[in-house]
Amino acid sequence: MNLKNSKFFRRIQELRRLSKDKLRKEKNRGVHIDYELENALKERNGDCVRSTQRQSFKDNGNFEQEKYESLENNEKINDISNGLIQLNNVCFRLKCACAAKPSPIRDEKPVLPIKGSICVSNSRYSMIGRVSKTLGFKVVKETKLWNILWTDTLPGVELYKSMKRFQQINHYPGMMEICRKDLLSRNLNRMLKLFPREYKIFPKTWIFPADYGDAINYANNNYKNKPRTFIIKPDSGAMGRGIWLTNDLKSINPSERMICQTYINKPLLIDGYKFDLRVYTLITSVDPLRIFVYNEGLARFATSKYVEPTIENSCDLFMHLTNYSVNKRSSQYDLCDNDDCGSKRKFCAINNWLRCRNYEVDEFWGKIDDIIIKTILSAWPMLKHNYHACFPSHDKIQACFEILGFDILVDSKMKPYVLEVNHSPSYHTHELVDRQVKKALIRDTLLMVSTPLADKKQILREDRKRIKQRLLKLKQCGTTSNTQRQHPIYGVIPESNINARDSDEPPPLEEGTQEAGLSALSQQIAWEEGHLGDFRRIMPPRDPDRLNYYCQFFALQNQASIYGETAASKKREEVAKKMRLEIEEKRQRQMEVMLGQRRRMKLEERRRKRASMPRAIVERHRLSRFRAQENWAPGFISEAEERLRRTWMQMRTEMLRNNKIVQMIYKDFYNGGNLTNADIITYPELYRCLERGADVMSDN
Ligand code: ADP
Repeated sequence: MNLKNSKFFRRIQELRRLSKDKLRKEKNRGVHIDYELENALKERNGDCVRSTQRQSFKDNGNFEQEKYESLENNEKINDISNGLIQLNNVCFRLKCACAAKPSPIRDEKPVLPIKGSICVSNSRYSMIGRVSKTLGFKVVKETKLWNILWTDTLPGVELYKSMKRFQQINHYPGMMEICRKDLLSRNLNRMLKLFPREYKIFPKTWIFPADYGDAINYANNNYKNKPRTFIIKPDSGAMGRGIWLTNDLKSINPSERMICQTYINKPLLIDGYKFDLRVYTLITSVDPLRIFVYNEGLARFATSKYVEPTIENSCDLFMHLTNYSVNKRSSQYDLCDNDDCGSKRKFCAINNWLRCRNYEVDEFWGKIDDIIIKTILSAWPMLKHNYHACFPSHDKIQACFEILGFDILVDSKMKPYVLEVNHSPSYHTHELVDRQVKKALIRDTLLMVSTPLADKKQILREDRKRIKQRLLKLKQCGTTSNTQRQHPIYGVIPESNINARDSDEPPPLEEGTQEAGLSALSQQIAWEEGHLGDFRRIMPPRDPDRLNYYCQFFALQNQASIYGETAASKKREEVAKKMRLEIEEKRQRQMEVMLGQRRRMKLEERRRKRASMPRAIVERHRLSRFRAQENWAPGFISEAEERLRRTWMQMRTEMLRNNKIVQMIYKDFYNGGNLTNADIITYPELYRCLERGADVMSDN
């Protein structure tokens, strides 16, 4: 494994080089910069940039450190790469302070509202619009030039491709790789083969019908005496629909598409009930990968007390499933508003329960963070590739962010398992706990993703200027060649750049833009750190050792092709190829047999036809064929043939003489009075003998 060749390392080195150059330049100019790319790099490498904010949130008195320092009034923002940020007409210089721990800023209210617009027409949750308005967003229709589009459904590629540089959307292209049960299982199984120890983060899973045989083998080999329970789920289902338990895999229709998983039959129970955790995870960037987990979330409880599965109780969904959509139908559903009871509880209540029983709460959440990172890493190459393919021009801000709802089940040994990832977790607020958790989640998310770098007017102005410049340049250079392509923002792209655009790398930006892009990234990082709200950052991890640990997954995935070919997938392909060849051969043989049969049948048919023809006609055909062959010209007679013919003639004469055939016939003709004058003249001696009454047959 060569880490130095990985893109991840190259990118870090590039960042480091750029930041050093810039520091050198600034030193020469005698300007002191408080916050630089260097810090962003430290951040990226896991060093803590501890900082909080002051200026814009005046009412939050308990902040210990300053992150932003307002500038002198007469300083102008002419270079955002200097670490300057303009937020709502107040100018800030980023300042790094390394000692203090970030304190959660749960209840702060921005004094100045966020300038920007959001489109929520494609979301069924009215809460999103309401929270956006309280933050200062203008809620607009889809047809307007929105800053943020919040949608419940996954958008198509056309929408991604049509987005402008200041626009953001709440889904990443390709996130289905972990949000569909079958794709999630495929990716996690692939990673499990590559990292058998590290990726035991989900129950053993098979995708039917492909893995049906494997599952049967597993059940036969491992659980001969005590049958194991399996949970069967539709491959792309949700909300507990179509889920059932079984311990007899042979009873399943092997041709149906579904997911089969080993059932975790000893879950952690609270008050005797099974529960799962809905952990809200925010991704703000895929390259570099930045993941945040919300500290608050929901534990969803089953409504019947848990008993290990038996044939009698395996149909009791209120006992084995923890989905709200299933359990809300139970008469036992508890709507209690108190933190320590109810069928939905907040994480703070769960943490209290764990602490009371001397469980290591931090360690427990560390494990959950780990499985979240590993799950996202399993789809990371696809996410990165899709992002760069869809958003080649987003250099100022990230084009996407996404809140994922991870469903985590904990077993009695406190080991968490990932069950499912939801790309559009429910934002319904039926209960008080829902309102408390989800409202704060949306608020903190919107605050974190709306960096002041996305100045719509400025970006539109820049784009117009760029197009103009390009056109002018083109006019100077003469006419456009056929090998050039038109781009909505960059104008005409020369042929040399087209290939780069088709690859998974971002397009080559104009001079200085790349640097500006990196600077924008560092500012975005700083912004996010300053607006964590109740999020905790898990990627890049704060502990440098953890970063090194995750590097192995980055590196190996970078080395593999984006759709990660494993030894198993290669083997499967080989077997499939062999099978294909065998099938083709078999088909060929069958064809040959069929052709032979057909030929034989044709011959027989012809014979049958001939047989049924009247004899006279058959004879006429034969004669006509014979006549066609008739030829009266003399053939060639060889000497040997002539000699043979003469010999045979002599032999015949001899035979006639020896047997006295002529005498016998003559005597008969004489006795009958049939001899002619010619006969008397030809054989005078025979005639005389007969006249005398002598015997012609005797030799004398
Ligand atoms: P859905 O998307 O339909 O909600 P899930 O995979 O989340 O499907 O499963 C629904 C519920 O079933 C979970 O909340 C959990 O309680 C239970 N469950 C799912 N898989 C397992 C498993 N392997 N072991 C034990 N319980 C499980």
